[in-house]
Amino acid sequence: MLGNFTFHNPVKLIFGTDAMNMLTDELRAYGPVVQLVYGGGSIKKNGIYDQVVKALEAAGKTVVEDAGVMPNPTVEKLNEGIKIARDNHVDFILAVGGGSCIDYAKGVAVSVNLPEDVDPWQKYWVDFEEPTCDVVPVGSVLTMVGTGSEMNCGSVITNHETKMKVGHVFANPDVFPKFAVLNPEFTYTLPAYQMVAGIFDIMNHITEQYFSGTDDSTSDYLSEGLMRSLIHASRVAVKNPHDYEARSNIMWCATWALNTLVACGKTTDWEVHMLGQAVGAHTDATHGMTLAAVALPYYRLIMPYGVAKFARFATNVWGVSPEGKSGEELAAAGLDAMEAWMREIGCVMSISELGATEDMIEGLADSTLVMQGGYHVLTRDEIVRIFRESL
Ligand code: NAP
Ligand code: FE
Repeated sequence: MLGNFTFHNPVKLIFGTDAMNMLTDELRAYGPVVQLVYGGGSIKKNGIYDQVVKALEAAGKTVVEDAGVMPNPTVEKLNEGIKIARDNHVDFILAVGGGSCIDYAKGVAVSVNLPEDVDPWQKYWVDFEEPTCDVVPVGSVLTMVGTGSEMNCGSVITNHETKMKVGHVFANPDVFPKFAVLNPEFTYTLPAYQMVAGIFDIMNHITEQYFSGTDDSTSDYLSEGLMRSLIHASRVAVKNPHDYEARSNIMWCATWALNTLVACGKTTDWEVHMLGQAVGAHTDATHGMTLAAVALPYYRLIMPYGVAKFARFATNVWGVSPEGKSGEELAAAGLDAMEAWMREIGCVMSISELGATEDMIEGLADSTLVMQGGYHVLTRDEIVRIFRESL
C-alpha cells in the first residue's frame, strides 16, 4: 500500500538544444548581483562559459565569479563561497556544471544569511537542521548528468578532516533550484569515465528507492521504466557519445530518478550511497564509481531478505526468463545481468581501483552511516565484509 506523501517540486525545467536561449529571461526575475559558480574550467574549454556570460550581460547582471568548485566539494570551499556571497551581497547564485557545482551552490544559498557564529557544516551536515534564515535563490545550467541535483533539494559536502562525506536532503522547498537549463549537447564533451559514472549514479538512485517494500506501488513501475530507458540509452551512448537521442534520454532519466517522484509512498534504502560516500571521503574518487564498486557486494548481501523484489527486478528490468528458476536463482540472475551491463559500459568494479587499500577498511566502516530502510539494516561486520569483497 502506498504510504502517505506530499509531492511538491517547483523546479522549472528548460530542456533541449535551444534551452540556453531562455536563460536571460529566467534571470530577469531575480536581483542584480549574480554569483557565477563553476568548476575547474571545462566550461571555458567547451564554450558554455561564454554563452552564460552573454546571457548574464543581456539580463543586465553584475557578475561575481566563484570558480574552482572541485568534484566532491569541500567544507573549506563552501566557506569560501559563503564569504564571496556575503561580501558581494549576491541576489542569485547560478551554478554551471554538474552535481558538485549545484550542491555547492545550494550549500552557499542556505548559509549566507546565517548569523556569522553559526557553523554551516555543523548545522546542516552534522545536525541535519533546516535553514533558519532566508535562502538565496539558485539556478543551474547542467553540464554533467547523474546526480539529479538540478531538480532536488540535496546537497553533498565533504569534510576531509573528519573523513565524512554527507548528503543533506533539505525539506525547505526554497532550496530547490528555481530553474534548470538542460541541453543534452552540453554533455558531449564529458570524458567517458564521467559519463559512465553519471549513468551508474542514475541507476543507483533508482535502485536505492526501488529495493524496499513488498507492496504493489506505482512508484516501482515508474522506476522500472526509467531503468529500462537508462540501460538502453547507456549502451548507445557509450558507443556513440554524440547520439543526441541517447544523451537526451539519459539526461531526462537522471532528473526523474532523483526528484522524489519514485520515492513517493515508499520507504527507501540509500545504503549504497552511504558506503560509496565513505569511499569518497577517504579517496576523493568520482561519486558514481564509488557506488559501482560497492553496489554488487551490497545487493548480493541483502538479496536473501528481499528475494521477491530482486526476482521482479530480474524479469521486469533485465528480461531474465523465470522459467525453471527458483525465486533466489531468478533474483541472482538479475544481479548477474546488472553486473554484465556494468562491465559492458565500463564501470569501476572494485574500491582498490579507486585508491582504497586493506588497511583503510576499518576507517571506511567508521565513515559509513547506517540507514534503516530497504530490506536489511547492516551490522558493522557486514559493512566490513562488503568493503573487503569490493577491494
Ligand atoms: P561533478 O563532480 O559535478 O563533475 C565531475 C567532473 O566532470 C568535473 O571534473 C567537471 O570538470 C567535469 N565536467 C562537468 N561537465 C563537463 C562537460 N560538459 N565537459 C567536460 N567535463 C565536464 O560530477 P557529478 O557526478 O555531477 O557530481 C558529483 C557530486 O554530486 C558528488 O559530490 C556527489 O556526492 C554529489 N551528489 C549529489 C546528489 C544530489 O542529490 N544532490 C546525488 C548524488 C550525488 P570541471 O570542474 O572542470 O567543470
Ligand atoms: Fe548519487
